[in-house]
Amino acid sequence: MSTEIYAEYPPELSTQQERWLIQTVKDWTIEHGLAIRPSTAIVPEKTNPGNVLATNAPVTLFPSPFPKSCYDQARSLQQTYNELYAAIANDEGWLETIMEELIEVDDFLAKLWETHLRVKKDGYVQNMTLGMFRSDYMLHTSEDCPPSLKQIEFNTISSSFGGLACLVAEMHTHLATYPSAQHPVAYPPHPLFSNYESTSIKSIGHPPSNTAVSTLTAGLAAAHQAYGPSKSSPQLPTCILFLVQDEERNIFDQLALSRHLYKHHGIPSFRLRTSKVMSDTFCAFDHPSRPLVYTPPSSPSTKYEVTVVYFRALYSPTEYENSDCWASRYWLERSGAIKCPSILLQLAGSKKVQQVLTSRPPGPDYLKAFLPNHSDATLDNLRSTFAPQYSLSSTDPAVQAEGIKLALDRATAANHVLKPQREGGGNNIYRTNIPPFLKSIPESEWKQYILMELIHPPEQAHNTVLRSDGAVFMSDVISELGIFGTCLWKTAPGVKQPEVMHNTEGGYLMRTKAKDSDEGGVAAGFSSLDSLILYEEV
Ligand code: ADP
Ligand code: MG
Repeated sequence: MSTEIYAEYPPELSTQQERWLIQTVKDWTIEHGLAIRPSTAIVPEKTNPGNVLATNAPVTLFPSPFPKSCYDQARSLQQTYNELYAAIANDEGWLETIMEELIEVDDFLAKLWETHLRVKKDGYVQNMTLGMFRSDYMLHTSEDCPPSLKQIEFNTISSSFGGLACLVAEMHTHLATYPSAQHPVAYPPHPLFSNYESTSIKSIGHPPSNTAVSTLTAGLAAAHQAYGPSKSSPQLPTCILFLVQDEERNIFDQLALSRHLYKHHGIPSFRLRTSKVMSDTFCAFDHPSRPLVYTPPSSPSTKYEVTVVYFRALYSPTEYENSDCWASRYWLERSGAIKCPSILLQLAGSKKVQQVLTSRPPGPDYLKAFLPNHSDATLDNLRSTFAPQYSLSSTDPAVQAEGIKLALDRATAANHVLKPQREGGGNNIYRTNIPPFLKSIPESEWKQYILMELIHPPEQAHNTVLRSDGAVFMSDVISELGIFGTCLWKTAPGVKQPEVMHNTEGGYLMRTKAKDSDEGGVAAGFSSLDSLILYEEV
């Protein structure tokens, strides 16, 4: 079945057609802001002082085929997933039991937990939390079964690329339909672009519209509204802060959100670099609501009260170079602004939590405990997206024995990936590298990793990639689909379940990488932005 889809896709291009298509894509990306700042490997610092240049984001020339049933399933699960992670972040006691043994061996998690405890001691003054989530999946194929959807990870902090993903879908749609769907100039005719129907396959023509930007900004707007009026006296105008890395290259993805937020919700937002938190914000910690006040350096006479701090930074230990960075995190966490995410929500997104959630009866049924109001069918549907995962810790000797056995044996390790509690790509250890890696570190440190079975995406997919340095590659590829969602909830003392105030799903990110590359991040340089062409079996 999928063999039929991939057999002659993407359509072959003559040299002239390829040249036309690449030039069109290069021009379209810059015209529409489907762009990134180049790395110094592409443009050396001395020819690009202040990193003012922009280049196309890495993109595929064609959308990638994807089964509509799996896309629909991923979408249908998102609000339940949102609720699940809200419930986990709301249950500090449960998270503590998960973090307890990790913080013994992971300094970064230990410091995050300690920062949370410091704020708890001062007393949290904000009882609402915003999650802007992305659940990532790959298609898993085994023998003759149709492809199934398996989750790679659930992101609870800095879930990025919603802005650029919308543009890729728009660009691929333009390429497939301009000036008409029957006779596009950029793509050679191909059945998949024109509502193709064979005896076994039906295609939907062009990429589904991508609503990631409106979904994500609606989440920010809901939190902004829920914060209510300024708590300062005299009252101040309110704003949202985008907390960003000092050397952010993915700025246009973020600007797509802030532009939409202002245009469609009338909410001003400002970009605050992590190194400027302490100088550009002020918080009266003796005020019962601890309003966080931001002063734009370019307009010091106008102060704003911050309703939401949206973290597009401070998710990785490399961003906490000195004690000022931790002081800034503490400062923001302690303030009265709504955090997206709070420290507890960041921790809820750790790989360890994802592994623990795969436990099922006769082990603890955490899904049922966190989602008591959902039917068994819904929980089974969620569970069907879990790939087998194992602990390497010693709290559960039976589970530990299984995980360690699989990880140390070269033959079984070859079908697994070892993941530390990190975000952002480039941290995992794959296949036969796992046994020597584990043997090279003290056994007491193994518990900071989880072992996950490898997902096997369809073998026959190809696509062509235009990289940010202008290079063009045609290769066998693997794609990863992310579904966006947002959730705003309120925590009440002593109440286990969060009070969910806003819970939405909408928009997707398709990332495609060469088959021989293990890692998957776009920002980390492994993947390209892509979109979907949906097909159904008939
Ligand atoms: P990160 O937080 O670094 O993004 P991920 O869990 O997403 O961590 O892993 C990074 C990449 O590794 C993914 O984008 C995917 O390409 C690959 N990967 C992760 N888990 C698996 C798996 N179980 N099977 C196949 N590839 C995987
Ligand atoms: Mg990932």
